[in-house]
Amino acid sequence: ERSKLKHLTSAVATTLDGEQVQLFANIELPQDVEQVKEVEADGIGLFRTEFMFLNRDALPDEDEQFEAYRSVVQAMKGRPVTLRTLDIGADKALRGAERSEANPALGLRAIRYCLAEPRMFVTQLRAILRAAHYGKVRILLPMVAFQHEIESAFAMIALAKQQLREANRKFDDRVEVGAMVEIPAAAMALGTLMNHFSFLSIGTNDLIQYTLAIDRADEAVAHLYDPLHPAVLRLVQQVIAQAKRVGMPVAVCGEMAGEPQFARLLLGMGLRQFSMHPSQLLEVKREVLRCDCGDVAPRVIKLLRSDDPIRIREQLERINAGST
Ligand code: PEP
Ligand code: MG
Repeated sequence: ERSKLKHLTSAVATTLDGEQVQLFANIELPQDVEQVKEVEADGIGLFRTEFMFLNRDALPDEDEQFEAYRSVVQAMKGRPVTLRTLDIGADKALRGAERSEANPALGLRAIRYCLAEPRMFVTQLRAILRAAHYGKVRILLPMVAFQHEIESAFAMIALAKQQLREANRKFDDRVEVGAMVEIPAAAMALGTLMNHFSFLSIGTNDLIQYTLAIDRADEAVAHLYDPLHPAVLRLVQQVIAQAKRVGMPVAVCGEMAGEPQFARLLLGMGLRQFSMHPSQLLEVKREVLRCDCGDVAPRVIKLLRSDDPIRIREQLERINAGST
């Protein structure tokens, strides 16, 4: 099935009615970039850098991180590489630092963890800023929800730059900084984020988890983990619409973006940037090439008004089948 899609590799992702769509890849380790090049992704929309820190005793120092990030940046030859800062904590604990909180997903993870471990955070920021000298790099901050977190994170970025300047290191001073939208509070008070960041990326995996109060890793409630819950769909749609209104780039980088059955739904909401596992990219591209946004958008707006999960599914099936 996938090999049949090979002919789409170098096709430009444009809808039937001429809308340009960008298809980015998610990676976890530097070597994943090979698969990204094979499918000719428009860039890397999410590099989950924490995977370089897991399952080892000594953590990577600045130079090891720099070399890893630079190898990815150079391999992408000027296409954007979005480096997410450490999303440590909860299910991704460092060796020897495992904690036993009652609610790890609500605890010290991602940006909260980084701000509590400023040495580790600034070291990573220095490595990223240095790698940015070799191509187009963007910094993406995970799990942001509070104004003061944003201010603290920007202060850390400024500190990392100052240290690099003092050390006479080559780096890119103008790297764009974006935020993951993956906490409902961030989605609902989006102005807080839009005032500070240059781009947004919706993390539907966590956004679903926190909106529905369903632990994304708990088998016992996995049947309730529903991307099509109307509350989830409305949050995603509102974030896309608000970002577009002010011309701010917005992507979806959670699993939803890589599922062909959701491609028309997201396109109909106005989404034009998708980031997904590279193995999904050509299947999603096929959906983009088949989609007429002018036809799909009003039908998606209608679907979003429904509170009935069965009707939502029926309507989506009809949209995907192309029938009215
Ligand atoms: C998400 O939450 O949707 C996301 C992309 O981040 P992660 O899956 O790494 O938490
Ligand atoms: Mg997440």
